[in-house]
Amino acid sequence: MSTTTPYVSTTNACKLCTPLGACMAFKGIEGAVPFLHGSQGCATYMRRYIISHFREPVDIASSALGEKHAVYGGGPNLKKGILNVMQKYGAKLVGVATTCLTETIGDDVPMIVEEFRKEFGDLDLPEIVSVSTPSFAGTHMEGFHAAVRAVAEQLAGESVPHHGGLNLFPGMVSPADTRHLRDICDDHGLAACILPDVSETLDGPALLDYERIPSGGTPLADIKAMPGAAASIEFGHSLPGRRTAGTFLKKTHGVPCFQLPLPIGLRGSDAFFAALGEISGKEPHPRHERDRGRLVDAFVDGHKYIFGKRAVVYGEEDLVAGLVEFLSEIGVHVVLAATGSEKTGLPSSIRKTCDELGLKMPEVREGADFHEIAELAEQLEPDLVVGHSKGYRSARKWNVPLVRVGFPIHDRFGGQRLRILGYQGAQELFDRIVNAVLEKNQSDSPVGYGYL
Ligand code: SF4
Repeated sequence: MSTTTPYVSTTNACKLCTPLGACMAFKGIEGAVPFLHGSQGCATYMRRYIISHFREPVDIASSALGEKHAVYGGGPNLKKGILNVMQKYGAKLVGVATTCLTETIGDDVPMIVEEFRKEFGDLDLPEIVSVSTPSFAGTHMEGFHAAVRAVAEQLAGESVPHHGGLNLFPGMVSPADTRHLRDICDDHGLAACILPDVSETLDGPALLDYERIPSGGTPLADIKAMPGAAASIEFGHSLPGRRTAGTFLKKTHGVPCFQLPLPIGLRGSDAFFAALGEISGKEPHPRHERDRGRLVDAFVDGHKYIFGKRAVVYGEEDLVAGLVEFLSEIGVHVVLAATGSEKTGLPSSIRKTCDELGLKMPEVREGADFHEIAELAEQLEPDLVVGHSKGYRSARKWNVPLVRVGFPIHDRFGGQRLRILGYQGAQELFDRIVNAVLEKNQSDSPVGYGYL
């Protein structure tokens, strides 16, 4: 029986808006400009969020609709906007995501794009991918997955020769994790088309001249060649049973699809390496076995500091499921797992983890906001909070450490370089968790530092 107050409003949502996720996915494609079909305010809000996490310039185009367009439709502005993006940016791909406004007025974006292609067919047109992302019916993660699926559905070639590479759909992971995933694939001799690939576009080097569209991103040629891959891997507990890029390629082109949890921790990483071994027919490079061994050694060394600590975890559903698995693996007792998404299968994936590890099921909340999370967590008395920056206020109030993971991280530097995936990412996350607990012990202690 629920012990919390029933709500009819959302207070400080534990999610971001749906087209924001689509923009993040488009940002990881070569030569792409995300384009919001809606008002300018939406684009400004999303740019602000993405820039403050990644600390990179991020341009998001908008059809800049006003009151008149809300009445008469936004088609003409969408066409003018795409022409502008072609001329100003030289975009190779324009990723059009709808917003609350254009979904409400019912603009038929695929039809408008088709008209645009006919009207301006004499020009050198970019690829145009459109995706429906009503924010009143989803979250940024749903927008992200929908955009990745739309790119696969709308760009994958019809008859592509078999090339034996790998399609990797990692989900919304950091640029540093994306680089690490590519290294792991390389070590298995697998040429990976990682979609999206934000490793350079959202974490690039300093340059003398401003690039209107940052270098990097998944090459369009690789996306078109995806049907010729040996297999696809897509990460996310929430994906099985849904329409995804991987299931599209399986259904229409017969590309085998491995749906795996985000490889956070030992078990998740083992499953990823096993899939790579099966696809490539190769053993992992010995360096990964050594990384795994070091991680196990760290678990043994750090166990005494964190065993039995109580944690609240929140954020995107796939991340939360992965973090619960990882925290359970290292002896931290998750007391509350919450996400802003709904009907994602989070309770059943956490139950599976708990059953496999012989643990008690924590409180799990879908469609949660920070009001509900705070009310529940107050009763559960956590020692630790794991999630993005938006939980800072609560963690500070309860005087417990916040280990920052996920998106957005506004109040710390280097969010784009945080790694949590694979054995190396688990090592870095484990070190951060243990050190957060040690730091708290020291700050609570009257003598401060001592042999621990
Ligand atoms: S109006 Fe909708 S699409 Fe625009 S910022 Fe708000 S929630 Fe996002």
